[in-house]
Amino acid sequence: MRFFVDFCIHYDRRNSGIKAIIIFPKEISIVTHRNPDGDAIGSSMGLAGYLQKLHHNVKVIFPSEYPTSYGFISGIQRAVIFDLDPNGARQIIEKSDVIFCLDFNGLDRVDKLGENIQFSKAKKVLIDHHLDREPFTDIEFSDTSASSTCELVFKVIDELGDRSKIDPDVGECLFTGLITDTGSFRYGTRSYTYEVAASLKVLGVDDYKLADKIFNSQKEKHLRLLGHCLANRMEVMKDYGVGIMWLTRKDYADFDIQRGDTEGIVNYMLMMENIQVAAFILEQPSIIKISLRSKGDISVQEIAQKYFNGGGHKNAAGGGVYASLGDIKDKVRKVMPQYLTKLTV
Ligand code: 5GP
Ligand code: MN
Repeated sequence: MRFFVDFCIHYDRRNSGIKAIIIFPKEISIVTHRNPDGDAIGSSMGLAGYLQKLHHNVKVIFPSEYPTSYGFISGIQRAVIFDLDPNGARQIIEKSDVIFCLDFNGLDRVDKLGENIQFSKAKKVLIDHHLDREPFTDIEFSDTSASSTCELVFKVIDELGDRSKIDPDVGECLFTGLITDTGSFRYGTRSYTYEVAASLKVLGVDDYKLADKIFNSQKEKHLRLLGHCLANRMEVMKDYGVGIMWLTRKDYADFDIQRGDTEGIVNYMLMMENIQVAAFILEQPSIIKISLRSKGDISVQEIAQKYFNGGGHKNAAGGGVYASLGDIKDKVRKVMPQYLTKLTV
């Protein structure tokens, strides 16, 4: 709530700040978080498309590779991936007059690029909707009540009087974040989210085709992996309504799991009756990654921050720890009862 008020009160000042920044063509870079998801990708590519219309030289940097299912996003092949080209990415940051930081609010979310951003002399602009913002930017559009960063990018462009510069390609990028961060408009929405969706549709976005491209492009191995997770890698704490799922390093090899292949699987546990929290534990080469989801008032953001070196949103959070898979499973089993009341079913 604090950030929402913050956003409203200072909105005009910040908007004129942005206006002053983008009035003359500049070298602009747009950075988003590692393991970029639909909102990170959509907001970055959408903002890039808009700024290019204003004749800026715009480069998008992803810290790590994006899921191949987003290959349809206009211009994405030109994005620079830090993991594949660290020097190229660093040079872009060094040359930038302005750096937009989208869909993250702490420099630990962009790996080693964080240092380059921190020490850069460029003006830094944050557009984000996560909790617990860290102060590393000059102008902030931080609104935790927004469904997505894409919703905020639309708002910024619209309030700059440039709604007409949102063509169907830019619109499709922004709509992508709306659809993916709200689970197809099932959670995290406010009335403004639907206003933005309606406006984007008016501007030419074909939401049916877009949803088909986003959700119906899974490879056979994705469905087989999902089946494996549901059949062989799920444990249910019935007393507390907690679903725990995990993947071992061997699973990664057996199913040829690449970055992004596990996205969305955690949500399947929430489809079970009485489930309040879902935890998905991934044994990656050097780190154990955990994805947490919850319903209603239970804050997995708090749990992720306190026990798993992470953060995020109230109902969708994650983290990463150096420990064994078994230890993390035990920790989840131990921690959850502290946050949940025993079910009486
Ligand atoms: P996911 O479970 O899909 O990886 O992430 C869900 C949300 O949790 C993300 O949108 C992000 O806000 C947050 N999150 C995931 N991993 C981390 C992490 O390692 N650190 C922090 N601070 N947040 C994370
Ligand atoms: Mn987001």
